[in-house]
Amino acid sequence: MSQQAEYDVLVIGSGAAGLALALELADHAQVAVLSKAAIDAGNTQYAQGGISAVLGQDDTLESHIEDTLNAGAGLCNTATVNFVVAQGPARINWLIEQGIQFTQAADNTGQLNYHLTREGGHSRRRVIHAEDATGRAVITQLSAKAHQHPNIKIFERHIAIDLITGKKFGLNSRRCMGAYVFNIDTEEVTVFRARFVVLATGGAGNAYLHTSNPIIATGDGIAMAWRAGCHVANMEFIQFHPTCFYHTDDTNAFLISEAVRGEGGRLLLPNGEAFMQKFDHRAELAPRDIVARAIDHEIKRLGCNYVFLDITHKPADFIISHFPNIYQRCLDLGYDMTYEPIPVVPAAHYTCGGVMTDLTGKTDVEGLYAIGEVAHTGLHGANRMASNSLLECVVFSHAASEDIFKQLNNIPIPPTLPEWDASRVTNSDEEVVVTHNWYELRRFMWDYVGIVRTTKRLQRAKNRIDLLQREINEYYSNFRISNNLIELRNLALVADLIVRSALLRKESRGLHYTLDYPQPAPIPHDTVLIPEEYL
Ligand SMILES: Cc1cc2nc3c(=O)[nH]c(=O)nc-3n(C[C@H](O)[C@H](O)[C@H](O)COP(=O)(O)OP(=O)(O)OC[C@H]3O[C@@H](n4cnc5c(N)ncnc54)[C@H](O)[C@@H]3O)c2cc1C
Repeated sequence: MSQQAEYDVLVIGSGAAGLALALELADHAQVAVLSKAAIDAGNTQYAQGGISAVLGQDDTLESHIEDTLNAGAGLCNTATVNFVVAQGPARINWLIEQGIQFTQAADNTGQLNYHLTREGGHSRRRVIHAEDATGRAVITQLSAKAHQHPNIKIFERHIAIDLITGKKFGLNSRRCMGAYVFNIDTEEVTVFRARFVVLATGGAGNAYLHTSNPIIATGDGIAMAWRAGCHVANMEFIQFHPTCFYHTDDTNAFLISEAVRGEGGRLLLPNGEAFMQKFDHRAELAPRDIVARAIDHEIKRLGCNYVFLDITHKPADFIISHFPNIYQRCLDLGYDMTYEPIPVVPAAHYTCGGVMTDLTGKTDVEGLYAIGEVAHTGLHGANRMASNSLLECVVFSHAASEDIFKQLNNIPIPPTLPEWDASRVTNSDEEVVVTHNWYELRRFMWDYVGIVRTTKRLQRAKNRIDLLQREINEYYSNFRISNNLIELRNLALVADLIVRSALLRKESRGLHYTLDYPQPAPIPHDTVLIPEEYL
């Protein structure tokens, strides 16, 4: 029997949410942090814009609340929005205390202040940032601090397979007591036991062929929580960014900032024709969802894979000085944007729905919390406002830490738990099943469950998912697990939850747009899914 690891708190995920929580807890608790890849490989690292909070002299909590509610298209939970916005300034101060170097600028009197930018949906300047690489600054500093803390143990390349709950083992409790964890290098499965388990596993952008998310964003936390009996809400609300660089190797995809359109960049069909004017009088400057829908329409109409973004009418110096990073990355991939248009495609960017929690990050399984992009707190409603997501990570990591502290001394370490049973499985000689299904799933999700939906397409996707899930489950029962198989199984389940939620929403609202019900329903409602065996 392998040694079972034992901690006060097991944090699954090392993004902004997971690391902030670990640092908040570590002075008083032994914390294990798992990351299935390198510590900084999550979505946090890629956040460019910044973090929203009421910090400016001319700003108010009411204004931030109002903007968030407007973006959420009637589906935000007002109590959550009030709570998060009110906590914002204090959580930003906490980040500053951790040593994150946000960008500063001198005011009229020469005094240095934190520089605030304004982003889509915000009626005031309220986005604090570290140049154009805020996420990198956050993750670099938090991970350095976590590495230094004697009470935090970081396990990179360790992927949680499933949560261990009392219910699963016929115990007289539904409590979550730990997780089975696969070491990607040694291929061994270990039991991690803990008084509290926290999911901080990020989003699920890889359910789609095109995504701005790194490869790790496979919805593992949502899938694990669902299998453990948690309620999952509003999975149909996937935010698509209109312009991601198109590349046949999708690991090379990256965001092309809206600023390129803001500076006059035009969207063109493969034959060179401009098309945005047909869809909105603001053309390329229309809001994100309208631009994404227009590109999607043209791509589907023409059966092509991408359109072009052209800013070649601007002088080369202007392009290089305004967009140095985008220019360089395009150049590395064979495109010089100073004299040729670049291929772009909309891409899955943010998962608004997720594991339902209360204002302390608690799920409905005892002992289990969910924080960050994996969670559905009610903050984003039917559409996330830019830069509210990193804020949500730090607000809920703090709230969860306070709630855990209150109970820490009353909850014992769980007893020895059943070991992972691999006695009935053999080595697979058909790894192609995994790679094929991975691609197939993401392709039909893109084609049938993307930006513009119809009931017929959703149903087509559902039939294929049912088939894939049967095949994946059979494979999972018979063959030794691997990192890819764990992720594929989770991705297929998350795709299923997205499609089921989309089929239940018989209206168009926020990020969910269906040709069969183009208008919003009179009364907004959340889509809440409950695992059958827990009904
Ligand atoms: C390109 C891009 C730009 C963005 N810009 C902004 C912005 O400017 N402002 C803003 O507020 N938001 C932005 N966002 C969104 C924001 O970055 C994310 O919502 C946020 O970083 C999520 O943080 P997280 O801690 O929840 O998850 P992540 O940072 O994604 O971390 C997830 C962690 O979980 C681990 N993990 C996952 N599954 C498992 C498993 N089974 N076992 C073990 N470990 C696991 C991963 O290894 C990783 O460590 C952007 C997102 C992208 C992709």
